[in-house]
Amino acid sequence: MADSITAEPSPTDATPRPTGDPLIVLDHVDKHFGALHVLRDVDLTIHRGEVVVVIGPSGSGKSTLCRTINRLETIDSGTITIDGKPLPSEGRELARLRADVGMVFQSFNLFAHKTVLENVTLGQVKAKGVRPAEARATAMDLLERVGVADQAAKRPAQLSGGQQQRVAIARALAMKPKAMLFDEPTSALDPEMINEVLDVMVGLAHDGMTMVVVTHEMGFARRAAQRVVFMDAGQVVEEADPETFFTAPRSERARDFLSKIL
Ligand code: ADP
Ligand code: MG
Repeated sequence: MADSITAEPSPTDATPRPTGDPLIVLDHVDKHFGALHVLRDVDLTIHRGEVVVVIGPSGSGKSTLCRTINRLETIDSGTITIDGKPLPSEGRELARLRADVGMVFQSFNLFAHKTVLENVTLGQVKAKGVRPAEARATAMDLLERVGVADQAAKRPAQLSGGQQQRVAIARALAMKPKAMLFDEPTSALDPEMINEVLDVMVGLAHDGMTMVVVTHEMGFARRAAQRVVFMDAGQVVEEADPETFFTAPRSERARDFLSKIL
């Protein structure tokens, strides 16, 4: 399936044609927080192997979008399917969804009272029933891959922010996810640590991981993303390949936003 081409109606010629079959599909998704209409008729398809950067002003609904995909938030109407199946609402199916769609947050969210190794081991044992010895071996491989194997015995607080975020990535990868969601993964980091995290993410992208990445890091978008999705006020306003989006945005709202961050 991976080499199939999905012919989707594209808004413009500039929209690249993604490869891979649809993995995450949002169809007419609406979400309110009380009177606030936070996602407005969002249609979005993420194809297998695709890296999509989501960008937009603060409060535009980017985090909510990620959280609905992982069912950390429910939606009011519309549908979300992952690999052809509707999002489960509870129980074992929901745990499987959370394993299938790994999430990395701005604030790392590691278990503070566990070691780095335990952080990457626990989910495998508890949610997937992996034997502890095998889980530890997988965890050490992943910690190696993200460059923090030498920190395995420490507590998260003893690590730098960049190291903690790489542990968080390893923890999500340990569940062997089909896709990874990143919500501003470098926003809480000191500048000198941003690249060590982005480099890991670029590596994942090159290895073919399906990724949805909320970030304003244009360097990452240019290096790794096939598509940029621009959100404003709960709507997907514009989609394009990174080069087109950053150099020739079509909408006034995107131009206005970019003029503020560039
Ligand atoms: P972004 O990630 O783009 O900054 P969010 O998805 O976090 O935007 O938030 C979108 C809007 O929804 C904002 O106005 C925010 O204040 C509001 N919001 C987010 N989470 C909640 C919540 N749990 N309850 C009420 N309002 C919320
Ligand atoms: Mg956010």
